[in-house]
Amino acid sequence: MDESNLTQILALMDSQFSQLSDTMAQLKHQVTELSHENNRLRMANAQLASVVSEASPPLSDLPQEQEDKHQEETSQAAPAKRQQAGRERLQTFYQEGIHICHTFYGMKREPGEECIFCQNLLDSFQRDNH
Ligand SMILES: [Zn+2]
Repeated sequence: MDESNLTQILALMDSQFSQLSDTMAQLKHQVTELSHENNRLRMANAQLASVVSEASPPLSDLPQEQEDKHQEETSQAAPAKRQQAGRERLQTFYQEGIHICHTFYGMKREPGEECIFCQNLLDSFQRDNH
């Protein structure tokens, strides 16, 4: 094998590495996008599940009269309860390392990354609770 052959092989390998590197970068980008979309879908799904479960509360075997009273109480407490449940869900997603803020909603936070927007939102939940 002479020197020009080696040079050709090295050039070929160099170009293949460069292609591989481009493919890797594209794959990484797609994984990030899919993860972002997955997070947003999970959050939307959790929200929808809570709306559906509120719209059709499990039927109990309470007598009719008590059931009516029960429904009345539920409908009065529902908005505040729903809001509370929604906040708890968002806090759970945040603890999992997902942005809950408007700006980066559904995107993954880097390990140890603090987001001032998410933090603001969490602080406002605390304020509303007191
Ligand atoms: Zn955020």
